[in-house]
Amino acid sequence: MANNAVHSTVGGLAGATSTLALLDKVDVEEWGWVLLGSTLGGIYGGKLPDILDPPSGGPNHRSTGHSVSANTVGLALYYSQIGPACENYCLERIKKAKKEESDRDRIIWSIALGIVWGSPAGQISHLALDGCTPKMLPL
Ligand SMILES: [Zn+2]
Repeated sequence: MANNAVHSTVGGLAGATSTLALLDKVDVEEWGWVLLGSTLGGIYGGKLPDILDPPSGGPNHRSTGHSVSANTVGLALYYSQIGPACENYCLERIKKAKKEESDRDRIIWSIALGIVWGSPAGQISHLALDGCTPKMLPL
């Protein structure tokens, strides 16, 4: 059974890897910051189901936060509405920061963009790891 360290590691890798195909949306000078953000977002997403359903709740702690149906709805909403809106906002802020020559804002919004891109992959990695255990995931 995957523990917190495994979920964080796999989530971070999933977040960073899922972002590689999206890097052409930003300039090369933002890639490092975006990958940092996507790794952090992946770690967060990789912990999210256990944040919602804390393991301290006992061996049968998996509930709505681990539910296949709730996560499917949540991720569908994220990929169709929330994610694209956040992505567009971050891209606009990066463009504005470059026009105003603000490295601080460019870095902050590049990291934020990475978090937006990486966190759902981390969440999916958590569900995949937990789904491969004998307890599986609740419907
Ligand atoms: Zn879990």
